[in-house]
Amino acid sequence: MYNKGYLNDKVAVVTGGSKGIGASITEELAQEGAIVIANYNKDLKKAEELVEKVKEFGGYVSCLPGDVTDEEHMLRLAETVKSRFGRIDILVNNAGITQDKIFSKMEANDWNKVIDTNLNGIYNSTHSVLPIMKEQKEGSIVNISSIIGQMGAVGQVNYSAAKAGVIGFTKSLAHEMARYNIRVNAVCPGFVNTAMTEKIPENIKEKLVSKIPMGRFAEKEEVAKTVRFLVTEGTYITGQEINVNGGMYM
Ligand code: NDP
Repeated sequence: MYNKGYLNDKVAVVTGGSKGIGASITEELAQEGAIVIANYNKDLKKAEELVEKVKEFGGYVSCLPGDVTDEEHMLRLAETVKSRFGRIDILVNNAGITQDKIFSKMEANDWNKVIDTNLNGIYNSTHSVLPIMKEQKEGSIVNISSIIGQMGAVGQVNYSAAKAGVIGFTKSLAHEMARYNIRVNAVCPGFVNTAMTEKIPENIKEKLVSKIPMGRFAEKEEVAKTVRFLVTEGTYITGQEINVNGGMYM
């Protein structure tokens, strides 16, 4: 086992941790020596590939299925991790989806699905893990929000509302949890090269890139390293929204 990081013997749960940004976060934390439990919803193959990849550098990851929209699933996940590993030090709420449509054409299902996954999902996982962290009097939670929660975007009223909600959730929970030595922060990526942004048509991508001072989308690892910083050296940081957006603002 890799044994030289800030996170030796720490236990981390990453929702949606088996692919995209979540997989990079899983790898980054495992590189620091953490025992990482990467939750996934449907894609078992990606989860298995990640376990192999992390094993290659001597890290430890275990993949557990569970739908963040189902409170029972998240409770079971937290209980399983606690009984297998004894504690949960880090929770990264990363699972998220888009279901874009112009608002006039958006149906209740488009709205509910995105709010359920991207916002209610964070309630479910956090509510399940917090009693464990409170008992330990120690913990760090990082919620993956988005620049879209800060500036809005055409066709993303549902996504933007959910991600703005994540920022409010973060700030309020940080107030409540500081006395338990539990820090709560949000990371707001701009546009990142993942399956989620592959769906954006090339001409729109070009327009977006022209608005990013750094002239490119982020790589997943750049978001993951920010999360690593928050859960390792960022010991006096709580209630913050950390922008990882290449200088892109409204
Ligand atoms: P991907 O689509 O690549 O990965 C999404 C992950 O979330 C997958 O592991 C997926 O698991 C999991 N997931 C989806 N629904 C559920 C669910 N109901 N329960 C549990 N897991 C679920 O997305 P990204 O890596 O691009 O995005 C990760 C996060 O970053 C999201 O919250 C997203 O909103 C945010 N973000 C992304 C940006 C980007 O440009 N890509 C920019 C800003 C924020 P499975 O495949 O098994 O279903």
